[in-house]
Amino acid sequence: MEDIIVDLLNSLSAIKELSEVNYHVKSEEELLKKALSALIHNQDMERCSFFMINDEGMLENLTGLSYFEIVEDTQETVQPLQFKVGEGIIGLAAEKKTLQHCHNCLEDERFAICSAQEKGKLPGSIISVPVFSDNVELIGVLNISHPEPYYFTDWHIRLLEIYKNMLGQLMTNYRLFHVMEQQITARTAKLEKAYQDIKRLKDHYENISVLDQLTGLYNRRYFYNQIELTMAGYERYGQSMCLLVLDIDHFKLINDSFGHSFGDQVLVDVATTLKRHVRNADVLVRYGGEEFVIIFTNTSCSNGLIFAERIRNEINQQTWWKDQHQVTVTMSIGLYCHDQSSNQDGQKPDIDNIVHYADIALYEAKKRGRNQVVKFSEELLAK
Ligand code: GH3
Ligand code: MG
Ligand code: MG
Repeated sequence: MEDIIVDLLNSLSAIKELSEVNYHVKSEEELLKKALSALIHNQDMERCSFFMINDEGMLENLTGLSYFEIVEDTQETVQPLQFKVGEGIIGLAAEKKTLQHCHNCLEDERFAICSAQEKGKLPGSIISVPVFSDNVELIGVLNISHPEPYYFTDWHIRLLEIYKNMLGQLMTNYRLFHVMEQQITARTAKLEKAYQDIKRLKDHYENISVLDQLTGLYNRRYFYNQIELTMAGYERYGQSMCLLVLDIDHFKLINDSFGHSFGDQVLVDVATTLKRHVRNADVLVRYGGEEFVIIFTNTSCSNGLIFAERIRNEINQQTWWKDQHQVTVTMSIGLYCHDQSSNQDGQKPDIDNIVHYADIALYEAKKRGRNQVVKFSEELLAK
């Protein structure tokens, strides 16, 4: 009676230990080693090993563990051994898909073909149990041996029947987990590539885009593309032109007081107001952060000044509400103009110079207290 209870406890311990084996390991070999150790730890078996079905359909000795390795904490090298399905007791277990129990190897006819030398190495008794994934596909054969013949009892058989089902499930989970892991890695790599492609496209279109994303106005790139045409018309027909550089005053303060997105809204609304003041042939661009450039084509200096004043005034009238505060902004405008009266020497105005001169006028407007228009004149250069 006592023996039965000890056997029962040992069997339950082996099953408990197997149920605790984690399949998050690096290889099937490592997983099997843990599983075999759960068995040998709690059962007085001398040796167990696992023969896995390989790609060629052969049963190959993947791993093995002996009682001495556990006791002495040593590692035996696994002898490379292969069996065809149907060959030997291991092959028979695989072929017949049922447990094979050899009570006395020396007298068993399944070992009759062994040479005398081979027989010398045979254990006393062996059990070979086929292990399946989902009870269908053969994974391999679990092999347990003991030096004594007639050693294994019904207890061992019952334990192994349960054990091999659990081992099959463990291996199935491991394989599923690794297939999923590979799929996730492959998907992640694909997503990363797609993301890089999209980013490259976005950068590409941003580089060739001539539109400012926030305000919808043309940007500085467009300005320098377009300016050649404008200047060509100017030269050919002797047209007059006015270039305005417009900059919102103390705009940093708007951002700092009411937030960046409120600042964005102000920029959008200012851009809308500016749009109303330009004709098709004119040029309006967002030149930089809170800075805009307008070219009024075919416009005299006196009209250019009137238009600039009108714009300044209208921007000044515009109001916004934020957190119960009424917000207004002002603009300083630098104006450079060129018409028949000022073009005495017939020299072609250089666009970089024109922008530079308008900038000087803008700087003067800021200096004089902001919210005003200043027209460029030679005297400003001397300052
Ligand atoms: P000044 O009267 O001398 O022009 O003063 P300012 O504060 O307008 O000029 P400053 O150059 O010191 O600051 C410009 C500010 O404009 C700082 C920057 O954060 C802000 N800005 C630039 N681009 C954007 C944008 O797209 N959105 C928002 N909200 N703010 C912007
Ligand atoms: Mg400013
Ligand atoms: Mg500025």
